[in-house]
Amino acid sequence: MQRKGILIVVSGFSGAGKGTLMKRMVERFDNYALSVSMTTRKPRPGEKEGVSYFFVEKDEFERCIGQDGLVEYASYCGNYYGTPRAWVQEQLEAGRDVILEIEIQGALKVKEKFPDALLLFVMTPSAQELKRRLEGRGTESQDDIRGRLQRAVEESRGIEAYDYIIVNDDLEECIAQMNRTIEAARMRPDRKKEFVDQFRLELEEILKGEN
Ligand code: 5GP
Repeated sequence: MQRKGILIVVSGFSGAGKGTLMKRMVERFDNYALSVSMTTRKPRPGEKEGVSYFFVEKDEFERCIGQDGLVEYASYCGNYYGTPRAWVQEQLEAGRDVILEIEIQGALKVKEKFPDALLLFVMTPSAQELKRRLEGRGTESQDDIRGRLQRAVEESRGIEAYDYIIVNDDLEECIAQMNRTIEAARMRPDRKKEFVDQFRLELEEILKGEN
């Protein structure tokens, strides 16, 4: 029987390298599908419509909220970000594991709606390293960087709601670690319910046959 996919939420401080990490994960393993979010933020150089995000105006985003078209949404550093519902549902039903790369408020809403979602939090090895990576990216102003570091302080207080922390020091090691963590989550009893039920049924059949 077709396995229903796992919903995987990946959060992490802005600059922790989630974008690259997610891109590599879907390139490397075919069972992962990465959701493309909708945002009111303006595209950064190199970002593509429908690949990086669906870039929309505020009124279109609000219309989508009104039509219940989003799994979750949040406001982050002055812009809206949200997960389009239809695509995520389709992929999960087709048995693929869907990755949502979203911030913490959205992650908590997903956990509420889908208690069996797996929540992963990506961190840099140190706070200094986070600042260095944000500055090295060269895509945000000093003010934006300060805003994102400030936001990281707030988000660090919510980390306990996550299932696992993944430290992004070496990218390859990080990819392997994330994949192992997801593989392990597949073995949790709540995801093996059908297998366990079938096993019990067979045991009962065996015992009946012995009488
Ligand atoms: P950025 O502007 O750097 O692309 O993203 C800013 C933050 O928004 C990141 O932490 C990213 O994970 C988060 N984000 C991206 N898409 C979504 C979404 O659909 N929902 C929520 N809640 N956060 C998102």
